Amino acid sequence: MTQIIDGKAISAQIKDELKEKVAQMKEQGTEVTLAVIQVGADPASSVYVRNKKNACAYIGIRSLAYELPEETTEKELLALIEELNGRKDVNGILVQLPLPKHIEEEKVLNTIHPSKDVDGFHPQNVGALCIGKPGFVSCTPAGIIQLLKRSGIEIAGKECVVIGRSNIVGKPMALLLIRENGTVTVTHSRTKDLKEVTGRADILVVAIGKPKMITADYVKEGAVVIDVGIHRNEENKLCGDVDHESVAPKCSAITPVPGGVGPMTIAMLMNNCVESVALQQN
Ligand code: NAD
Repeated sequence: MTQIIDGKAISAQIKDELKEKVAQMKEQGTEVTLAVIQVGADPASSVYVRNKKNACAYIGIRSLAYELPEETTEKELLALIEELNGRKDVNGILVQLPLPKHIEEEKVLNTIHPSKDVDGFHPQNVGALCIGKPGFVSCTPAGIIQLLKRSGIEIAGKECVVIGRSNIVGKPMALLLIRENGTVTVTHSRTKDLKEVTGRADILVVAIGKPKMITADYVKEGAVVIDVGIHRNEENKLCGDVDHESVAPKCSAITPVPGGVGPMTIAMLMNNCVESVALQQN
């Protein structure tokens, strides 16, 4: 029987653990605060921001919302980030992406102080992950490690194949799997024989951004498959990068879409906010 990895249940468990931790911190006089900045009113971004605020409220994290108009200049945004960097009562700073075209994303992300960069996008945090030092880790790949661990799936010594080399999923995913002692191969759009490589994977992480591209012939019998993709199909239903119907019967475990990787991203963001307090005290 294929194990369906329940990201909804695992993320709920993590949020409950964090809620307890935050309550204990409050008793000791420490409050955790996340500042969320949104520029413009992109409807998808508004949904993500609302979900983040709701998760904060559930756990007991104070959230400060900065909803800035589309015309906000880069200079004004950078000034706000600098102000929040300097505030002792703000632990985490999150700028919702994408930003309007007139604002340079990289400049903005690099301005967030690394000790408040709860998304884990700052080069200092990426570098820390690379050399095994403490720092924030990008939330989606960090969530995938939790999914595997909490589902009782051993990573050490396993053949792990990651499809995709983006800065927010593929690359940090590979680094985390190495940290967990997996034997890691990263594949991408220029990989010559993708099926040959993925066919060796004990653990296959798929982050391509192409609906249902990975069919059963890419997957080894008994593999664990983690589907990072999120798309809406012709019937307006959510689906992943993996053709779940054909792949699931071949796997020992697989994540569904929705209800797999998706819910873990916010849970790990909340985890990073809680961890930021200790990081800022060092
Ligand atoms: P991206 O577009 O930045 O990267 C896609 C990667 O796939 C690239 O590195 C590219 O080389 C590789 N690729 C493209 N075509 C390929 C092919 N034919 N064969 C092999 N590799 C190929 O995407 P991303 O930001 O890493 O996101 C990937 C998917 O995950 C998207 O569907 C995105 O919506 C989803 N996503 C989900 C979450 C979540 O919380 N669940 C978070 C981030 C991204």
